[in-house]
Amino acid sequence: MRNRRAALAAIASAASLALTLTACGQSSEGGSEEDKGGSDGATIGIAMPTKSSERWISDGANVEKELKAKGYETKLVYGEDDPDQQVSQIENMITQGVDALVIAAIDNKSLGNVLQQAKDADIPVISYDRLILGTENVDYYASFDNSKVGELQGTYIVEKLGLKDGSKKGPFNIELFAGSNDDNNTKYFFNGAMSVLKPYMDKGDLVVRSKQTDLNQVTTLRWDGGTAQKRMDDLLTSSYRSARVDAVLSPYDGISIGILSALKSDGYGSGSKPMPVVTGQDAEVASVKSIIAGQQTQTVFKDLRELAKVASNMVEASLNDKKPEVNDTKSYDNGAKVVPAYLLQPVSVDKSNYEKVLVDGGTYSADDLK
Ligand code: BGC
Repeated sequence: MRNRRAALAAIASAASLALTLTACGQSSEGGSEEDKGGSDGATIGIAMPTKSSERWISDGANVEKELKAKGYETKLVYGEDDPDQQVSQIENMITQGVDALVIAAIDNKSLGNVLQQAKDADIPVISYDRLILGTENVDYYASFDNSKVGELQGTYIVEKLGLKDGSKKGPFNIELFAGSNDDNNTKYFFNGAMSVLKPYMDKGDLVVRSKQTDLNQVTTLRWDGGTAQKRMDDLLTSSYRSARVDAVLSPYDGISIGILSALKSDGYGSGSKPMPVVTGQDAEVASVKSIIAGQQTQTVFKDLRELAKVASNMVEASLNDKKPEVNDTKSYDNGAKVVPAYLLQPVSVDKSNYEKVLVDGGTYSADDLK
């Protein structure tokens, strides 16, 4: 089992061998696998949050594929949305001697102790998609421009309602949903969307009849679709008996599915009650099908194949004491340090461009979406 400490020792001994060889008038060129930054059988632990959402299943598979292509062994675990289970899974991987960790946290604040253990064992940690908070023991962050995700959702709503180009005047009724309050991405998505929606709310062109506009009133624990469905049911009962909802800001496809179920049960999507504009995120198959069928309106696609490449490059660089490529060194302060990040760009997808982005782009085949 090789870890960074072992690697450093190997480099040190290679260096002293080089000195010896040079002293004997010989060249040390060629070197060992270690000198070339090879994987040398290192094992990477990958902790993903849940199998209940397609995206994380793809993430696990993609990260394994990228790391294996670089010659690493992998151990992939899923925490089933239980923060304690994730902590013990990571503890186990540290005990088993993994050489690096890639972690998509369930509860961002619950990993401080276990990451101290990782640090003590000299194991580099890559925070995957969701920033781990409150600990210095996070080396790099691989993610998307999470504010941009929210901006794309907000912009889609104002464009689709005709508010942006002024072709329609409000007021339109909108309700707001956000993700899990223990996920650092949640506030980035929500604030990004609100940066676009709030000016229209201030002018009265967008009205939130429930008056639930603060992030802490609209979060959805563990991104659960059933929880969102229940809240949408309640909102329709309390605020929409004599009015119609025109748009729903939803941060994630699984939440959108719950919202759409509540809307359908209330008669939306038939007769005089058209479906509101409903956003989403992740371009999961069920939601892309829903978009094609004219139910969900939009989603945000994030190319997980690219994210896996970024994360595995970070692993490789960390294990070889090199600096990986980062493109953001100021946005992601986790409370203990600003974590150097590489942020990829998300893409807005609706009925008009899903074929180009998702099918031509190779994420899905046309059959997958039938
Ligand atoms: C991810 C989203 C995902 C959500 C729910 C977030 O941290 O960035 O892509 O929709 O978790 O799984």
